Parts: sequence; C-alpha cells; structure tokens
Amino acid sequence: MPIKLSFYGGAQEVTGANYLLECGPDARSGRPAIKLLVDCGLFQGAKTAEDENRRPFPYNPSEIDALFVTHAHLDHIGRIPKLVRDGFSGKIFSTGPTRDFAELSLIDSLGILTKEARRENKETFYSKEDVEKAMSLWEVLEYDEMFSLKDAEITLRDAGHILGSAMVEMKVEDKKILFTGDLGNPPVPLLKRPYEPKDIDYLIIESAYGDKEHEPEESRKIKIERAIEKAILNKGVLMVPAFSLERTQQLLYEINDLVENNHIPAVPIFLDSPLAIKMTDVYKKYESFYNKKAKFIISSGDDVFNFPGLKMTLTTEESKAINEVPPPKVVIAGAGMSTGGRIIHHEKRYLPDKNSILLIIGYQAAGSLGRQLVEGVREVKIFGEEVPVNAEVVSIRGYSAHADTNGLFDFVDEISEKLKKVFVVQGEARASLFFSQRVRDYLAKEAVVPKLGDTFELV
Ligand SMILES: [Zn+2]
Repeated sequence: MPIKLSFYGGAQEVTGANYLLECGPDARSGRPAIKLLVDCGLFQGAKTAEDENRRPFPYNPSEIDALFVTHAHLDHIGRIPKLVRDGFSGKIFSTGPTRDFAELSLIDSLGILTKEARRENKETFYSKEDVEKAMSLWEVLEYDEMFSLKDAEITLRDAGHILGSAMVEMKVEDKKILFTGDLGNPPVPLLKRPYEPKDIDYLIIESAYGDKEHEPEESRKIKIERAIEKAILNKGVLMVPAFSLERTQQLLYEINDLVENNHIPAVPIFLDSPLAIKMTDVYKKYESFYNKKAKFIISSGDDVFNFPGLKMTLTTEESKAINEVPPPKVVIAGAGMSTGGRIIHHEKRYLPDKNSILLIIGYQAAGSLGRQLVEGVREVKIFGEEVPVNAEVVSIRGYSAHADTNGLFDFVDEISEKLKKVFVVQGEARASLFFSQRVRDYLAKEAVVPKLGDTFELV
C-alpha cells in the first residue's frame, strides 16, 4: 500500500506547518485506513495569512485519527482550535511542556485575534470553547516512548528548539518517516542537544535558515552584564523587549547566573509580562527536560528563574507601580518586537531619557517598532504620540533557536545512509530551494521543495 504525504502549510514558507500522512485502507489484508496530521500552525506575516487561516482545511478534519504536535510556537499550533471547530475529534499528542505552553499561547493569541477581528468587524476563526475542546483531546507523550495507533508506530524525539520541542518519527508499513519540526541550534541555555535519528527513509526537514549561516555567537552574557551595569551607573532604566516563550526564560537564567555570582550589583529587575510569567511557571514544572548544566545548578539548590531583586508583576496595578520605583531598574516585558504588550508603555516613558538603555535581543521583523529602533530612528510614534529616542539602543544577536544551513546539512548527512527522499519545508522558497540543491549536490540524495497542496507517494 502506498503511503501518501501531503503538504498543507509550511510549503515554500516558514509558517502554517500542516502535514497529512495517509495509508490504506487495504481490503485484502483488512487493514483500516489511517490518517495522521503533524502540526496545525498559523500562517503569519504575509498579507494573505489572514485569509489562509480562515480557509477550510483541504481534508475532512473528522476523518483524521490523530494530530502530533512538534512544539508550541504559533506557526505550529495556531490553527488547532479551528481544526477542532471544523470537526476533528481524534487525539492530539505532544510532550507535556508543549501541551501547557500551547494552552497559554492559544488563549493569548485569541485575545490578539479578537482585537484584530473587531477592528475589521469580523468574527475570530476560533473561540475559547474550541481551545477548551482541543485541550480535552490532548494527551502527553514522553520523548522516546513508542506509541502505537492502528498500524503506525509514533515516537517523539527531542528537537532541542524550545523546551519540549519534538521531532515526530513515524513507522508505517516498515518505512520510517521523520518530521523535524523546528530543529535546534545547540548549545543553548537550558536545552539538551537534538536527538540523532537512525534508519530514516523519508525526511521532512525545516529550512528557516536553509540558505544562511549564523554569525559566530557574540558573548551574549557579557553584553547583558555590561548593559545592566551601565544602566545602574547612569541611574537609568534598562528596557528589554522579550518574547514570552524561551527568550525570556533564557534571559532570566542568564541574569540569575550574573546575580548569584555577584557579577552585577543589586538592582530591581521586573518581569512585566503576564504571559511570560505563566510560561516561566510551566518551565519550573518540567525540570526533567533541562540539560545537565541547568539540572546541576538546580540540584545545588538554586531556582534558576528567581534571584534577589526579581519581581514578577502579573496585574496591571503591579505593572503601573513599576513607574514609582526610582531608577536604576531593569524591565523585561513583551512583546518581543515592541509590537504591543507592556513594553511599549515603558518605551514611551523612558525612550526620551538619555540615561536609559533599550536592549534588543533577537530578530525584529520589518515594520515593527523594534526594527525602527534597531535601525536608529530618532523619533517614533507610540499611541499616536511622537516620542523622541534619546535612550541608547543596544542590540545583541540572541541565540538562534534554529539550526543554520550547516547545522541542517550535518543533520541530513548523519542520517543519509538509508534516506530515500528529503522534503524541504518551513522556509522561504529561496532558502528551501538552496538547501534542497545542497542536499542533491553534496549528498546525492533526492530532495524536493513541495508546493502548497502537493501530495507525494512514499514507495
Ligand atoms: Zn519554532
């Protein structure tokens, strides 16, 4: 029986990951049909994304046996509530952290979608009830624990991308198929290195950085240390826009190390993001997922996300009270690209102050306030007001959560022995095409870049 693999997202684009694997039924052997999905992500960024997210699924969700979720970034989970709304009633499987992060992210994302929909006089494409129904279908699997569903065997493997991230390994009809999800870029704080798979026949690999090499990592911790010291010396405010998931926890982990080892003087540090605070609580629940170094620090009695001076401000009142605390102080808040969230209140207040510092970690998309600030504009508009930028803007390249073209290549090289075909996904067309060419040229393996809606037979 041929196995069919279809690409309904993440094809020649980074976002919207959604893959369908089908097999059977086989009348002769009496085998039932099996239909498995991997990821059900939100389309993001492009002008057409909103329409794509609302479009009906190109398959019947009620016929799907199960959905396997690689990790909790929205471009991998964002349409799960819609899948449920459209009739899916199978089981959803992921690791524990992915399940918990997903619940927080989907509710948070619904809040943002609701605001956008209201502006355009539309309904959102899923509701809180759909999220609740999705969570009731969701079950947790451990890494490396084989799970049988009809004739398929499925195993989640550590992908080292964010906490709880997994590759999905499927064995169907003696063929081993591996979906990488997003692949990590070791070493990073807290996370283990990605698992090294064996005997893979078909590989579906991400390619966000398929045509790029990461620049050598700057000594990030030293730069963070310097920024904090400078803010203290100037009696200014250090503002750090940070993503709620992974980036914030890495930052806390590093500041914890600086504080506990007396590298920086005592200073009030605020984590001013309800979502990031809740995400951090999930981290604390899953210490067994940490790498050896983090586990060792914890075993010595240290709480890696808490240190003297840190205050988590959950409520609006607590957040506003930060204003009453005289500088120097450090404020970490979302959104990571200053596109919303509490950080912009602090930016409005302190960007005009020449003693303050804005520390930008990681990628800032074109058009975002964060991008304007990185590019050095001297005046920005916040809540309709012109705000002069007198604060110093410091930007550090963060740890990339993705493998670069060399990391991806090495990954394929390591498992290339049995490989029959490589499908390159989750990258812009240019990145995916470049990487597929590299695999063909240097590993002599068949490699394709599927288009949205393409179906392949795995023979
Ligand atoms: Zn991701």
